Amino acid sequence: PDTSIMETITLKPRKEESILRHHHWVFSGAIANLPDDIEEGELVNVVASDGRVLGAGHFQIGSIAVRLLQFGDSPLPDDFFRMRLESAFRLRKTLGLIRPDNNCFRLVHGEGDFLPGLVIDIYGDTAVVQAHSPGMHFERLKIADALTQMPDARIRNVYYKSETTLPYKAQLDPQNDYLIGHFDGNIATENGLRFNIDWLRGQKTGFFVDQRENRALLEKYACGRNVLNMFCYTGGFSVYAMRGGALKVDSVDSSAKAAALTDANIELNFPGDPRHATHAVDAFKFLAEMPKDAYDLIILDPPAFAKHRSALKNGLIGYRKLNSKAFEKIKSGGVLFTFSCSQVVTREMFRLAVFTAAAQSGRKVRILHQLTQPADHPVDISHPEGEYLKGLVLYVE
Ligand code: SAH
Repeated sequence: PDTSIMETITLKPRKEESILRHHHWVFSGAIANLPDDIEEGELVNVVASDGRVLGAGHFQIGSIAVRLLQFGDSPLPDDFFRMRLESAFRLRKTLGLIRPDNNCFRLVHGEGDFLPGLVIDIYGDTAVVQAHSPGMHFERLKIADALTQMPDARIRNVYYKSETTLPYKAQLDPQNDYLIGHFDGNIATENGLRFNIDWLRGQKTGFFVDQRENRALLEKYACGRNVLNMFCYTGGFSVYAMRGGALKVDSVDSSAKAAALTDANIELNFPGDPRHATHAVDAFKFLAEMPKDAYDLIILDPPAFAKHRSALKNGLIGYRKLNSKAFEKIKSGGVLFTFSCSQVVTREMFRLAVFTAAAQSGRKVRILHQLTQPADHPVDISHPEGEYLKGLVLYVE
């Protein structure tokens, strides 16, 4: 883009400080003037009140007015996306995630990869791209091209899936579809286990790659245990528990579609194995009706109970109630894997909710592990909001 024709957004005095610390967001309240003809999704220059150019980013209508792609006063290079994607790919290589027995990982985690508004998950030779900002929506073809041009990455298909992630008010009417390539199989491998990834109909990009390492940890605890995987979705934890030598594994999800995905993934890895059963029922109903001591390894990985700050109080009550049920029913000597993926729930709040449930249950509870999101979901230190997944592994006597 020719920066000489770029619109300029000027900030109010002293509002440049967070940007100088490389925070990617410009809030609308920090802006002194907005050009009349500015359009949603446009690439803009952001300038301090003294005229200093602070960076360039995508403009958006809303409380986050600009998501900065680059800091400083140099123009955005033409190969910006290629460079950022290659750097993201190099990091995943460094992390050891690209191996014959592992071909699914997150390539781009928004601000954590200096690409605010963009999420990309890789499943074998298919990339699933989600734009969270109008700016990234407009760049989607450039992004798709850059993805398929990275020689080492061997990405042949790019599926764009932003129908539910773009701001509804922007009226961009994005269609979920292939930008490059086409459907040519959807089985990906994670730590040697195979998964059907349903990016066409599934939630998010089709699979929760963020639980990979926590699933691998669970596998180590599974031997000889009776496992209950609550909110199983694609059955990730269940498949690892099976490989870990669980005596039996019950997977629960209220969605019949999720239950079918779990069945398919068990069948793919452990065909006809009688140790596994799926239950398409509500988690709270299942927990209320199940007998005590039936399970000595329980996973609670619910959807975000607090999607916004306004839902925080009820969300925390939800976590407390859910965990109370598990403490009430888990067998003595049992291990509980409990998670929250709500970004607005801090690690401390989650601990407090879980520990309150533990205290009320009267069980003796010890912390074995404190879990988080894996390294392919990096958190930029200037953008702590990028941290969202929290987990605790507890030993319950
Ligand atoms: N643990 C999964 C991800 C869970 S996503 C993994 O590792 O991939 C959350 C899941 O909870 C979704 O599949 C959703 O269908 C399910 N869910 C939401 N509300 C539920 C409820 N009340 N009871 C049971 N499942 C529920």
